[in-house]
Amino acid sequence: MRTCKELIDQLSKKRSDFDRALIEKAYEYAKDAHSSQIRASGEPYFSHPVEVTWILAKMGMDTASIITGLLHDTVEDTDVTLDRIKTLFGEEVASLVDGVTKLSRLELQSDKTKQAENFRKLVLAMSGDIRVLLVKLADRLHNMRTIEFKSSEEKRKKTARETMDIYAPLAERIGMQELKDELQDLSFAQLNPDARDSIISRLEFLKTQESDPVQSVVEEIKKLLKKEGVNAKVFGREKLPYSIWAKMQKKNISFEQLSDIIAFRIKVDTIPECYQVLGIIHSNYLVLPNRFKDYISTPKPNGYRSLHTAVIGPSRHRIEIQIRTHEMHAIAELGVAAHWQYKQNLMSDGKQYRWLRGLLDIIERASGPEEFMEHTKMEMFQDQVFCFTPKGDLISLPRGATPVDFAYAVHSAVGDKCSGAKVNGKMRPLRARLENGDQVDIITSENHKPSPTWERFVVTGKARTRIRSFIRSQQREQYTGLGKSILTKAFRKESADFSEKKLSDVLRSFKVSTVEDLYASIGEGLTSPIEVVHSVFPELKEKIRHQEPLDDGEQKRIAKINKAKPGEKVSLLGLIPGMAVHYAGCCHPLPGDDIVGIVSTGRGITIHVSDCDQLADFEDEPDRWIDVDWQEANDPGRKFVVRLFVVLANQPGSLGALSVMVAKQEGNIINLKITNRSFDFFDLLLDIEVTSVKHLENVVAYLQTSTLINEVRRI
Ligand code: MN
Repeated sequence: MRTCKELIDQLSKKRSDFDRALIEKAYEYAKDAHSSQIRASGEPYFSHPVEVTWILAKMGMDTASIITGLLHDTVEDTDVTLDRIKTLFGEEVASLVDGVTKLSRLELQSDKTKQAENFRKLVLAMSGDIRVLLVKLADRLHNMRTIEFKSSEEKRKKTARETMDIYAPLAERIGMQELKDELQDLSFAQLNPDARDSIISRLEFLKTQESDPVQSVVEEIKKLLKKEGVNAKVFGREKLPYSIWAKMQKKNISFEQLSDIIAFRIKVDTIPECYQVLGIIHSNYLVLPNRFKDYISTPKPNGYRSLHTAVIGPSRHRIEIQIRTHEMHAIAELGVAAHWQYKQNLMSDGKQYRWLRGLLDIIERASGPEEFMEHTKMEMFQDQVFCFTPKGDLISLPRGATPVDFAYAVHSAVGDKCSGAKVNGKMRPLRARLENGDQVDIITSENHKPSPTWERFVVTGKARTRIRSFIRSQQREQYTGLGKSILTKAFRKESADFSEKKLSDVLRSFKVSTVEDLYASIGEGLTSPIEVVHSVFPELKEKIRHQEPLDDGEQKRIAKINKAKPGEKVSLLGLIPGMAVHYAGCCHPLPGDDIVGIVSTGRGITIHVSDCDQLADFEDEPDRWIDVDWQEANDPGRKFVVRLFVVLANQPGSLGALSVMVAKQEGNIINLKITNRSFDFFDLLLDIEVTSVKHLENVVAYLQTSTLINEVRRI
């Protein structure tokens, strides 16, 4: 097992600013905490955190990360507490250890590959501080290096799968190429040992064919660049079996050529030298078509920069060459961990590293690397939340998302029928904001329909689009029914025969293609019903010209007749409130009330109680009156708002008593306003939700039984 001195020696190769005494203290403390534990390999358990820390020391991480590496398993596996760590090593270390512990508990419950991307994001979001992720990756790397000691093949495969799907791509995303390659290859050895073995034996065979072709290529390129006066370092590195395998899969080729197994690299000091080297290579060797990539002017999303090209090089070997600066190389291999060595350039070159954009703000404000790491949050995922379905599927949503967004993300049909939600086992309102890691159970019911009020709080485009299109189709249905009703009435009023056959002859003059469209257009108020009648029977138009206009009294009489006539009833069943049909705010109609509908151009109809005072305004426009009635099949769950005037005793607890009484009768208070306050009484306006007149009567009667309530009446 490595000693603390070895760790510190390794770390001092990378940096000079670290707290030696505190690291020594953590080493002894963790060693003690793990003292009774043995690894599957037979080694003391403590060798694991030491190796994890070794990996972190090689990256040149800061003191807090090094200590976190040593302590990372103590909270989960020993009786050490976070409080204790906080006391001994400070808040920063405690919060890092806490983060790593939480990540270790996180387990993907379902093994669907499509979940992997969301799971990665969850890991990133939960990491909070990027150092948590770096320690976790080091932990995973060491576990993979020692995976052969795991008992069952099944467990080894599961861990390898998770590493391949989750952790290797995470390493890649934060730019840690070297770590990613090793994680992938170690997983590959578990997941497909046969393929890996055959690649290895093929590599061995190729090497026997020629005496060190790699070195001869390197030497020739070196000579060439020296002749041109460029100061460059040239390397040839064998790719790991998994990288070769991935390439073979992707390009569907077998490997016969060096270009498939060796990555040649030329490292120089400056960017202009990169292009100079490229020019030299291209003018001396035959360039393979379509292989040149300029990731310097257009970096990969994870910040990777290099020039890539492929040529038929020395001894007619097809070779692939990467050209980059030393700094680009360090960043390509170490990613985010490289920022210590190249912090200055990362800052000035910031826009090149798109993945760092969110972090750069902090770097620019921070005074030193310590502060940078301390304040670094994984901002790129701070705008998302990740929630589980009851089956363990992971759903990614924008921050601020609600159970309705979640329901639509699961499936449109689930969204449409969503009637309630349990979050972590508790009923929550549909407008509640979801948090990372919430488990959401959507309750659906067959005859439930999207509510237009949802549109006000959903944040995903999918939910909004579905709700809108649902409302539109409902609206159209309503406009069509309404338009037909208005039109038949208009025909009747003119004593003209109504027939759809005749209507289809005049469709063109109203610029619609079906009778349905014509109805909808009338219902929406875009087309005048009288004009339709006159278009079908032009002679009626003539007649009207010779008729005396109706006097005032006559018009009112017609209005009365229209109101009284049974006529066509517009079904209120399943109507969407607030859209094609409005319930008047002046009189708050309830099922059971006598009602009447008023057509408003472009806005559908407004339902009033039939003795509402506002109706006087429409007495002169009989065409706008529509007979409506409540259908007995009215959705029993549908709630209506009604306004009550209450006079309540001014004494402690009376408001509480009032709301308890309303609740006992299953009324829901949605608004309350004190309009007058005297020594002994309050006057209140109380808006409550009820399902019908009958329900309201129950509430009012119950309130009147209280001695605290002086008066209750509906307004
Ligand atoms: Mn561990």
